[in-house]
Amino acid sequence: MSATATHVLLIGIDGVRHDTFAEVPTPHLDAIGAAGLHRPVLVHPDVPTISGPSWATMLTGVLPASHRILDNDLTGNELAAHPDVVHRATSHRPGMQTFVGADWQPLVTNHSGGPLLAGGGFLPDCPRGSDAGPADWHCADQLVVDAAADALSGFTSGPGSVSFVYLHGCDTAGHHSGVGPLYRELIAASDQRVGQLLHALEARSSRAEEDWLVIAATDHGHRPEGGHGGDTDAERTAWISACGPGVPTGGSAPLELADVAGHVSHVLGLPPRSEAFIGLPFGARAALRPGAAAPGPGRAGESC
Ligand SMILES: [Zn+2]
Repeated sequence: MSATATHVLLIGIDGVRHDTFAEVPTPHLDAIGAAGLHRPVLVHPDVPTISGPSWATMLTGVLPASHRILDNDLTGNELAAHPDVVHRATSHRPGMQTFVGADWQPLVTNHSGGPLLAGGGFLPDCPRGSDAGPADWHCADQLVVDAAADALSGFTSGPGSVSFVYLHGCDTAGHHSGVGPLYRELIAASDQRVGQLLHALEARSSRAEEDWLVIAATDHGHRPEGGHGGDTDAERTAWISACGPGVPTGGSAPLELADVAGHVSHVLGLPPRSEAFIGLPFGARAALRPGAAAPGPGRAGESC
């Protein structure tokens, strides 16, 4: 978009209900929204409210009919034809630096038919699964963020970078004991970890010469007792917060989760992969509603 180096930071926080998010102190995520947008997003009706298909839609920009991920077993996927936006960015822009880290194995390893992200990524060495407890969930999220913060600090400025940092703790807490104190604790802790990432970004010596697109998003909500996969508003309402190049400030244009891939593709100038790609730049979707009294996309922001 410009001669200024463009860097992209995607933060995925699994399973954070929009209404609960609004009740928990989250100053760092709120700052992203205040500098750009924060919007509830209804998970597309073709996408089950399950992590695999939802993250796949967000990161590839295509629906399950194309990426063929229908649950948390990614076996038989069509990701080779519809790769994630991190892979597309590094393939299209030589020299692009990248970091991918996640504490849910199918995103970054071949577990359950993964990795969803073609290049794989960092997986923390903490106890996981049914034997793991809250201290282990914190351990895993924190190690991912520590590794990500190191990467963000170490990127050279010129070629740009694209990173995906994924935190599983909120979703794990929701499954463990529903939308209660532990769930809220993990949401607050995730926000503190987002703060660590933002601090690493802002502390870069070359920060003034860089454009940073920061997008934080969740993939689905939770039922009050914990669990998701159904069609209730609590499960189907996700959210996106974003700031930086091209992100509208103000306005209330509708968004799709696929617009995460759409906006990153727009900002980095990536060519569309296929006609199945439904992701659009944030704010562009209002223009698709002819005659509607849409409030418009808002003013395009330039910095986070
Ligand atoms: Zn999930």
